Amino acid sequence: MIRAMIETSLIDWDGKLTTVLFFDKCNFMCPFCQNWDLMLNSEKFPLIEWRDIERKLLARKKWIDGVVLTGGEPFVYGEEVLSVSRGVKAMGFLLKIDTNGSYPDALQELISKDLVDYVAMDIKAPLDERYNEAAGRNIDIKKIERSVRLLMEGRVNYEFRTTCVPGMINEGTLGEIGERIRGARTWVLQQYVPENAYDEKYRQLTAVTAGEARTFVDIARRYAVNAKWRGRSGN
Ligand code: SF4
Repeated sequence: MIRAMIETSLIDWDGKLTTVLFFDKCNFMCPFCQNWDLMLNSEKFPLIEWRDIERKLLARKKWIDGVVLTGGEPFVYGEEVLSVSRGVKAMGFLLKIDTNGSYPDALQELISKDLVDYVAMDIKAPLDERYNEAAGRNIDIKKIERSVRLLMEGRVNYEFRTTCVPGMINEGTLGEIGERIRGARTWVLQQYVPENAYDEKYRQLTAVTAGEARTFVDIARRYAVNAKWRGRSGN
């Protein structure tokens, strides 16, 4: 269900002006999540009906490039993602989806139906038991691996993105992740935002310094065709 909307955004798809739609649930509970209020207290946010979204998109048709589906995790609502994506594409907009990568079947369906133009997939930690701490849940790492493989087939433009959470992401763990995505098209490293993190402990951590960020990007460049730093992010 969609419960929040940014009507015009310059920061949710590099180089594109977008409208951003937020789905209100997630199957993870990352301790550093910034959008936990929407997910845990969703009744505070009124539902936004598709007809209202459609009306607002049509009013912006001349200057909006695309629509971003984010959350939460959009694929918690697989059928709704399909129908919203069909509606968005029928209006002639580009579509981006942000995902935690734990729904490879739904992702594959969206790609095979040509309903998505860009996928941003989180890679939160090395692909082993450490992922559970980053996700705040015991997760099926095979599903993350399947989504990685699917995107690396290159049928849709994509980025992997890693939030540089202190204690979780360092030169060593970045190298471990890099080995699993070697040859990826784009790997974006994101600044850690302590304020408003879901877990109180994570609000005490400090953001990555400029020097660390440069070192991290240099490491990512060994593995991905494009590697870059992104200043601030909600995930
Ligand atoms: S950071 Fe993303 S994947 Fe993690 S709980 Fe928040 S919305 Fe879900």
